[in-house]
Amino acid sequence: MITSVRGFKDIYGKEAKIWKKLENIIREVFSTWGFEEVRLPILEKTELFQRSIGDTTDIVEKEMYTFIDKGNESVTMRPEGTASVIRFINEHKLYTLEKNLKLYYLGPMFRYERPQKGRLRQFHQAGVEFLGDLTPYAEFEVLSLMDCLLEKVGIKDRILYINNLGCPDCRKTYRNSLLKYLENNQDLCEDCNRRKITNPLRILDCKQEKCKEIIKSAPKILDFICVDCKKHMTKLKELLTLNNISYEIDPFIVRGLDYYIKTVFEVHAKGLGSQSAILAGGRYDNLSKDLGGYDLPAVGWAMGLERVVLLLDETFVEDDSLDFFFIYFDDRGEKIILPLINNLRKKGVKVSYDPSKSSLKSKLRKADKLKSKYVVILGDNEINNGTFTLKNMEKGEQFALPLDKLENLEKEI
Ligand code: ATP
Ligand code: MG
Repeated sequence: MITSVRGFKDIYGKEAKIWKKLENIIREVFSTWGFEEVRLPILEKTELFQRSIGDTTDIVEKEMYTFIDKGNESVTMRPEGTASVIRFINEHKLYTLEKNLKLYYLGPMFRYERPQKGRLRQFHQAGVEFLGDLTPYAEFEVLSLMDCLLEKVGIKDRILYINNLGCPDCRKTYRNSLLKYLENNQDLCEDCNRRKITNPLRILDCKQEKCKEIIKSAPKILDFICVDCKKHMTKLKELLTLNNISYEIDPFIVRGLDYYIKTVFEVHAKGLGSQSAILAGGRYDNLSKDLGGYDLPAVGWAMGLERVVLLLDETFVEDDSLDFFFIYFDDRGEKIILPLINNLRKKGVKVSYDPSKSSLKSKLRKADKLKSKYVVILGDNEINNGTFTLKNMEKGEQFALPLDKLENLEKEI
């Protein structure tokens, strides 16, 4: 038997219903906040991610699904959405100074990671990008959107962590101080020893326990950021407080992608074990320019849908019971019932029926199993009397009604 690929998951049944409702809420909230959807390709040129996420990040070094296509081009299944959004804006020349761009995406991403709870190789992200605004109001916009969305979805036990990575200028000073602190340290993992030369800031994001321990007492970037970056952060904090959005400062958040500057943030939820980040993002003012495009300040975040779904249960979705189940036994019944069913379904009423020759008892059992609220019975007696029986399954009551009432049956309940 052929099974699915490791880390790639089928979504079906109750879980699929949770996904559908979650996606509906996401789309609704995004659109209320003025974000427009962009549907981007799953495959991009490998270079796009090398140049945006960064050559020395875990994603690009270890996690990408990269292959050479039949035209001898190196392509990659997107590991995230932001690089593609920036590629898209520049390719189609969509930016004008008069107007901010507010875009969102929702779809599968691919990373070759070790599959575990809340970590897959194909996973899904819903993300927003707010482009064209250098001020902390941009962060405030996407963070208040985040707060509203998670509230609507019902994720109560969550914490927003914020940090500021500084601009390229203040980061240089910090980099030197960090390297100085790490200089005589022999205990870093092999990867981090390499990172000292390639990309020291990545060491702060190392998942190895011994590196984490060393990092705890390392100099903190917040002590190194310049006046402008400090002002930026103070204003953002003020805006969040004013709007009752709670947060904590976490000086160790650096994010796994190189393009972030100044503000970075993560939202963690209780109940997910070690994969507790459900949403993450930040500011990336230089990405577009670095990719040869517009000078386009930007802030964005992406939410991991698998992890959010893990926090939801069946009570999140409405009961999917039927409105009516139809029972009949012969051609006379069928001629009346089938066209009626068609009409009701066109009106959006949820109905089902059983065309088999089985007994009333067994058909009623079926109606019960399908959780039908009402049952319509059209047996010999009923047809001969010009009536039908309407049974309220919850109350167990039933009464006879004239056949012409079938026309607008949904009004009878
Ligand atoms: P992590 O530290 O958990 O690996 P990340 O920093 O790599 O996360 P981002 O690239 O910022 O994650 O992606 C944003 C969100 O997407 C994460 O907060 C998480 O909810 C989700 N996510 C990332 N990678 C995966 C994955 N492999 N499987 C499921 N969800 C994921
Ligand atoms: Mg990761």
